Amino acid sequence: MSILNRREIMTLAGAAGVTAMFGATARSASAAATLPDLLYAKDALEPYIDAKTMEIHHDRHHQGYVNNLNNALADHPQLQEMPLDKLLADLDAVPESIRTAVRNNGGGHLNHSLFWRMMAPGGGEKDRGAIGAAIDSTFGSQENFQQTLGAAAGGQFGSGWAWLVASKGKLEVISTANQDSPVSLGKMPLLGVDVWEHAYYLKYQNKRADYVTAWWNVVNWDFVNQLFSQAKG
Ligand code: MN
Repeated sequence: MSILNRREIMTLAGAAGVTAMFGATARSASAAATLPDLLYAKDALEPYIDAKTMEIHHDRHHQGYVNNLNNALADHPQLQEMPLDKLLADLDAVPESIRTAVRNNGGGHLNHSLFWRMMAPGGGEKDRGAIGAAIDSTFGSQENFQQTLGAAAGGQFGSGWAWLVASKGKLEVISTANQDSPVSLGKMPLLGVDVWEHAYYLKYQNKRADYVTAWWNVVNWDFVNQLFSQAKG
């Protein structure tokens, strides 16, 4: 159930594209995590997600997770070489002294690396593709699915995420606190919405539900289907 390793995350963006992301695992010169570039302009998700929020969220918050993860792993070269999702899937194997830092910042790095790809300009229900049938079969309809995910997003007290995940061959909606990743629960993330206030407060203030409603307009179903294919494979 390997989703992305550290080196794949390093090349998440740019010309490499989705194929390379799931392909080569060649060693890089450095195992340090790096912030992936966005594949679209910071104002590309307007009016649903504003450019200033994207700038602060990507350039500062995500960069912070990257820096803190690298700091936590600085004296643990053998852990630096592990795929990030494997590291998060077995946190008990991480030394206690850095476990919380890896959980929070490794989770933050993985979650956000996926999140930027789970969004794109011009998303929408019409583009659901292959996962659309699975969503309708599981939840009854796209509308019901959006209500279920929206309820998980709204019900997450404080900071966290709401997710569509693949778990034991089935689709499921869950929420996680802080930067906890579904992979730490043995589940594969397919679509996630960040409900930390840093994701929406500039534009939506306390109106998290309005943000989540707007966010559906920028869901990148192509990428969701890439992850869905990985989950099935
Ligand atoms: Mn965030």
